[in-house]
Amino acid sequence: MAQEWQNLLHFRCTCCGNCCREPIVLVTDEDIRRVIHRTGQKAAEVVDFYKPSEIAWGKDQPGWIQLKVGLRIMGLRRTEEGCQYLGEDDLCTIYEHRPVTCRRYPFDVEFGEKGEIQLLSISNSVECPYELDGYQTLGEIKALCTWEEEEENPYYEKIEAWNAQKKSGTKKKFLKCLGF
Ligand code: SF4
Ligand code: SF4
Repeated sequence: MAQEWQNLLHFRCTCCGNCCREPIVLVTDEDIRRVIHRTGQKAAEVVDFYKPSEIAWGKDQPGWIQLKVGLRIMGLRRTEEGCQYLGEDDLCTIYEHRPVTCRRYPFDVEFGEKGEIQLLSISNSVECPYELDGYQTLGEIKALCTWEEEEENPYYEKIEAWNAQKKSGTKKKFLKCLGF
């Protein structure tokens, strides 16, 4: 018998744009490469470096970069309306090239010992007025989580190496260190 949380496999996004307007979207170097491929922007135009006071992301979480200006985390650059890639119609203007986090959102996923999805929930970081008349498979969601992890882990390793340096550098140097 299907468990209650499996009903969320019928999730359908209603394209309200809330999750593109409100939260800061954290990205990896691979996300930046995809966006640049689509937009032709420079890496420094794609991202911004946010202070701990600007985001609800604990300092014990990975992704914090020690820069000359202090501790920062890298996320998509925003305008006053939210993510810079959110169109006036509330749709993503770089949809095919969007970060992996945007693809996995709004699912929060818990895995069992054998790597199976044990629990699925809808992130409560923003109000998400979804419908339950769509369909995706557990395999599709798991593939997105695997993709996200495969890009996050090497990115976090690069940050660790950067932070281990005796001298903290500038944002420009950090982006250069990522290959931009
Ligand atoms: S990249 Fe696209 S999907 Fe991701 S937050 Fe920005 S507008 Fe939304
Ligand atoms: S908040 Fe939910 S319904 Fe609105 S765009 Fe994001 S995922 Fe879709």
